[in-house]
Amino acid sequence: MRITMPLQTTDAIVIGGHDLAEADRIVVFYTLTSGKVRAVADGVRRIRSRFGGNIQLFSHGRLVYFERPNRTLHKVNEFLAVRPHQGLREDLDRIALASTAVEAVALGVEENEPSPGLFELLAEALDHLETANRPVLVLEGFLLQLLRLLGYRPEFQECVRCRNQLPARDAAHLSPTHGGAICASCRAGAPDAFPVTPEALGFLRGAGGTPLRLMDRIALPSTTVREIMDAIHAFLCQVLGRPLRSADFLGRL
Ligand SMILES: [Zn+2]
Repeated sequence: MRITMPLQTTDAIVIGGHDLAEADRIVVFYTLTSGKVRAVADGVRRIRSRFGGNIQLFSHGRLVYFERPNRTLHKVNEFLAVRPHQGLREDLDRIALASTAVEAVALGVEENEPSPGLFELLAEALDHLETANRPVLVLEGFLLQLLRLLGYRPEFQECVRCRNQLPARDAAHLSPTHGGAICASCRAGAPDAFPVTPEALGFLRGAGGTPLRLMDRIALPSTTVREIMDAIHAFLCQVLGRPLRSADFLGRL
């Protein structure tokens, strides 16, 4: 019996992968038309590989792959990097930030569930992570918007328990299990709640709807940035079911 393998062509970003024997590699792509796709790239680790160094983590390009019907592992035919994002792989801080972005996507989405909005957001985030002077806030803005696209909308304007508005200039507590901010009176009912300063809360309130290219213009003290990172990662951990591996690395920045 002859098995036909339809050839698919799509825009794709390399979001992960691991090595196999014989210089092969399983590559995880986030694609425009099919969402997350896992595919084997034969001989990709050979010096004279036909892929010619195009398949690298964070590369954004044109993917052609053989789709194996009813299988979750496909086969790469060709990949041409249009935006290689070399700058993301040459700087330790940017490696950590971009790794967190792609790991969050890889963990948060299912295979064969395309989301053009998420594809555009990830492509934009990688572009800005490569060039921004303050790439940390680009990542945090991306992660907040990712949470929304995954269907999880943390509430930062009002208390998630009693629904009272939280004054803009006040500190509050955040509870990932309750899905947002908690006022002082409800604090006892949310054992996981942790305090957040008005400055960090202000960023969390605004960044979900702010274009990533503007994140570079936001200047905040490093303690506030750290607070924002810890808060967003706590919410992500709640949604993804486990902490991101890259977050350890990020903690050392
Ligand atoms: Zn309350």
